[in-house]
Amino acid sequence: MTRRSWAEPWKIKMVEPITMTTRAHREQALQAAGYNSFLLQSDDVYIDLLTDSGTSAMSDHMWAGLMEGDEAYAGSRSFRHLCEAVEEVYGYPETIPTHQGRGAEHIMSQVLISPGDSVPGNMYFTTTRFHQEYAGGRFVDVIVDEAHQPSSTHPFKGNVDLAKLQALIDEVGADKIPYVSAETNVNMAGGQPMSMANLRDLYALCSRHGILVMLDATRALENAWFIKQREPGYENKSVREIVLEICSYSDGATVSSKKDNLVNIGGFMAVRDPEIARKARALLVAFEGLQTYGGMAGRDMEALSRGIREMVASDDHVRARIGQVEYLGNLLIGGGVPIVLPIGGHGVFVDAGAVLSHIPQDEFPAQALTAAVYLDSGVRGMERGIVSAGRDATTGENHRPKLELMRLAIPRRVYTQSHMDVVAESIIEVYRQREQIRGLRFTYEPPALRFFQARFEPV
Ligand SMILES: *Cc1c(COP(=O)(O)O)cnc(C)c1O
Repeated sequence: MTRRSWAEPWKIKMVEPITMTTRAHREQALQAAGYNSFLLQSDDVYIDLLTDSGTSAMSDHMWAGLMEGDEAYAGSRSFRHLCEAVEEVYGYPETIPTHQGRGAEHIMSQVLISPGDSVPGNMYFTTTRFHQEYAGGRFVDVIVDEAHQPSSTHPFKGNVDLAKLQALIDEVGADKIPYVSAETNVNMAGGQPMSMANLRDLYALCSRHGILVMLDATRALENAWFIKQREPGYENKSVREIVLEICSYSDGATVSSKKDNLVNIGGFMAVRDPEIARKARALLVAFEGLQTYGGMAGRDMEALSRGIREMVASDDHVRARIGQVEYLGNLLIGGGVPIVLPIGGHGVFVDAGAVLSHIPQDEFPAQALTAAVYLDSGVRGMERGIVSAGRDATTGENHRPKLELMRLAIPRRVYTQSHMDVVAESIIEVYRQREQIRGLRFTYEPPALRFFQARFEPV
């Protein structure tokens, strides 16, 4: 059969030049950044795969929305458009706008969690767990064991292990569990989906015990695509229908709009219960802004309402988005580089623990690999391992995640296939010379969310 290529369902209308740097320049930049890719200047980066958060390219229709934003302080028309889009696409009648995802997590945690509560979740996300603990809760991981095994090819590594959840309910009692925090397309597991069957069973179990299900629906679109690909009965449904069904098995959600929603800033909390919405709005005015803007400009809400509709307008967008991630992943597999399988929705996760098996976890293998790749080509990834996991709030001990990963997150609609070729060639080259890479140690360790600002030096 002759090869039939696929290409992106968009063409380029405006370009942004990027800098190509020398190795000597990158050596200096890396030292100045304390070997932390978060502290690099973007001017020193060639291909930026630090995050897919807020780095998407908006469409011409979304940019036009910026001009049409209604900047009224109260009762903005653009807020109304946002509410309509959220209800149409996610199905929740109450929308609470926030400046980004963590703003929504803060408000939701403060409204629902009491000190001493347990909050089960399918693996933690950094800011989500922070806000749950900040509100006095205790995060309990109830994800399936396969999520912690980089080589497991389980199709739904984001699933909640219902036996683990039941054991927690038996141990602490349902009244000490305000909600289950269920993340779609689990970021920290490598962008791995939940199945619809698991979501349905989770909601049924929780409903029996009077426990709410709150989604982190930040990546519901990417999750929907995997359900369409992998779960029997969904192959002929559109991602639009699947996203709506995902949300139907929940009482509400927090969303960082900097991901699926295709905007550079924004987020929201959305719920069905007007009483929870009322409590959230009462806090919103203190922490984010009035209930009709919550930290976003009117133009941001206008672009966001368009982005929410655009992401599900046809399946072509998400097919190309995840197709590009898979393209990069398959190049790395071809080069022998160990990565998390199946390839996830928003990026490729290199198994740094396996690549740098000569570096102990206390010397931050994923951080060291990320620095080595930057040095080789100016490609910026990020650490997702022991540095990101942080310390236990009560004991002060390091959390010891089983996964020690370098994340290469792909911004949506920003880079071409040739950029992916350059990235793969660099990583394969670094992989060949892996024995020369040394571990790192802290020269500065911040007290919370340390991965953002920590500084290191080679041991
Ligand atoms: C990015 C992200 C968040 C936090 O959102 P921000 O907009 O960065 O505050 C929460 N959950 C998931 C799954 C995310 O990917």
